[in-house]
Amino acid sequence: MLPAAREELRLQGIPIHGQYKARIREAYSLPSLQQYEQKRFDWYHDEQTMIDWTTFRQTIRKFHTQKATIHKHVFHFSPTGHWAHQNNHHLPSSCPRCGNPNENNAHVLQCTDPVVHQWRQQIFPALKKAIQQSRVQCSDPQLVEIMQAGIHSYLSHSAPPNPFAYPKPYQTLVSQQNAIGWAHVWMGQFSTEWKIQADAYYRNNP
Ligand SMILES: [Zn+2]
Repeated sequence: MLPAAREELRLQGIPIHGQYKARIREAYSLPSLQQYEQKRFDWYHDEQTMIDWTTFRQTIRKFHTQKATIHKHVFHFSPTGHWAHQNNHHLPSSCPRCGNPNENNAHVLQCTDPVVHQWRQQIFPALKKAIQQSRVQCSDPQLVEIMQAGIHSYLSHSAPPNPFAYPKPYQTLVSQQNAIGWAHVWMGQFSTEWKIQADAYYRNNP
């Protein structure tokens, strides 16, 4: 056996070629994190295996200076009325803007207050601009449309997109993101199908 092969590190059967500390930490913490998430988000099936955890890690890493805030956001523990009331029963759980009796993480985005409504109106032009300004020159218009439909369904508290309303190659993506939940797009938790379909589009439209 070559010396290099003798020194190869494998975690859960997968060879590790760098960033050893981070990979060991992940291998140690990921199973318990996944178990926790399963309970927290009422995932009963294989939703976790549908998530592109590489993209999630890359997204989270960009906010390393705001770790505490991001963790609260990802696990739905942001300082809302819901948690304030849980911690101190004298504090109201209601939304200070619209008076909804339970201001939780979802409500912060779905609030009917005119100011929040105006903010929601700005999301789609901002999303379009971000795509145009990104280094990706040929974003798949079908993926952009699905993303907009999914985000809109979540923000307006309406039914998620119907997978069968889209061409066949995209139907698994829509089904998977519906199962994971469109709320999770706000947390950087995307179905692996997004990357698969984006790569396929770039291959066919170089
Ligand atoms: Zn509200």
